[in-house]
Amino acid sequence: MFSNILGYKIFNKSKEKLIEFVFARKKICIISGNPEVLLNGMNNKNLYDTFNSDDFIIIPDGVGTVVSAKIAGQPVQEKIAGIEVMDELLRISNEKGYRVYLLGASEDVIQRCKSNIINKYKNIDICGCRNGYFKNDEMNEIVEEIKVSRADILFVALGSPKQENFIIENMQQLPCRIYMPVGGSFDIFAGKLNRAPKIMLKLGLEWLYRVWKEPFRIKRLGKIPKFILIVFFNRIGLVRKTLVK
Ligand code: UDP
Repeated sequence: MFSNILGYKIFNKSKEKLIEFVFARKKICIISGNPEVLLNGMNNKNLYDTFNSDDFIIIPDGVGTVVSAKIAGQPVQEKIAGIEVMDELLRISNEKGYRVYLLGASEDVIQRCKSNIINKYKNIDICGCRNGYFKNDEMNEIVEEIKVSRADILFVALGSPKQENFIIENMQQLPCRIYMPVGGSFDIFAGKLNRAPKIMLKLGLEWLYRVWKEPFRIKRLGKIPKFILIVFFNRIGLVRKTLVK
């Protein structure tokens, strides 16, 4: 069920199996394992250990991770995009009445994201939402608000690793069952950004589309080959240890 890439346990079955796995757990956080997130974890032992712990599952989000899995000799069945998992969780919530809380992005984006979700899923219960530009001393208030909302599912869009750290710090005191850091997904639901055209998604070129639309991402693009190279050197035995300090 898992591929081992640099010590990370990466889920290697289909998206449908992932959803089954997630709903069979009492509490779980779904990590979109793209090279940037995985590299963040490799430079921070706490993040790395937490991603590999029982309450977390890492999905192969992005062509960089899919290629790395092949290089590691542990291929995954398919790429699982975080935004597609989010959409599926929203669809199921709409059907089963699960309560959803949205935390992150700008006020304008979160409001548009919420109303577009409600337009798409007419019966959905968005039990709370809040923008992601808060001060540290507002954290307790936000956590209280999520508790009071009795959310079943919490999506957090604060950018990485802030969103993962928010969940790690608060997950045990919150009542939600499913937690998911979702990066720029609220921007996509809000219509501020589009996903790449289907052909680019198929060819594994979503990263190219994102850089084209948001050129500032070019600096972050280097993380994909960096991660792939580390996996490659690891495979051929040139790097025996991971980066974890
Ligand atoms: N964001 C936020 N608070 C912050 C920093 C970022 O709410 O302090 C939001 C930002 O507005 C965006 C989302 O986090 O909607 C994702 O950011 P980014 O594009 O960096 O994430 P990626 O998709 O690259 O993981």
